[in-house]
Amino acid sequence: MNKKGKIIVISAPSGCGKSTIINSILGSGEIQLRFSVSATNRAPRPGEEDGVQYHFFTTEEFRDAIASDAFVEWEQVYPGRYYGTLRRELSDAATRGENTILDIDVKGALKVKQQFGDDALLIFIMPPSVEALRQRLIKRGTDSAEVIAERIGKAEYEMSFAPQFDRVIVNDDLPVAVAATESAISDFINK
Ligand code: 5GP
Repeated sequence: MNKKGKIIVISAPSGCGKSTIINSILGSGEIQLRFSVSATNRAPRPGEEDGVQYHFFTTEEFRDAIASDAFVEWEQVYPGRYYGTLRRELSDAATRGENTILDIDVKGALKVKQQFGDDALLIFIMPPSVEALRQRLIKRGTDSAEVIAERIGKAEYEMSFAPQFDRVIVNDDLPVAVAATESAISDFINK
């Protein structure tokens, strides 16, 4: 009998170490997981490659994909910037029995849960506190005070969705958070 692939969704406010946690889990090879490559109309950042971090679409291509029902979910995560999970990313994996990890925003995560139910595990990565997140963003030194205030506001909004997730993992200490995430994923896959 073919085992059906499962879906793991990771969401977190920006600056909570989500990408580091995902990359560390994918890199360790302890769990066999495929990364779902989303589509976006934002421009690639230096070092990003089409088809690797994202499928980089024009706004028109993104609209066409919406019209042809190519997305499981899509969101305007930032003004004018669209992100979406392509159906084919999940259906191909499901037929091959592969487990897939998604890095998407909170609203997208809940839409995936609505569609996949118990076949999807939603994990929310939480900062130890809003103040700790503020300190992290200040330390990173890449954002102005205004941008930091905006990010904090968005983080508080996103944190209000945490109770709707299956698991909430606090990233206070990175190796601990990675281990907790990894064990939540293996429990779910092996259940
Ligand atoms: P970035 O532009 O920094 O790569 O991503 C910005 C945000 O978009 C992140 O919070 C990321 O989780 C979210 N995101 C990436 N892909 C998707 C997607 O397919 N759907 C949704 N809803 N959000 C996404």
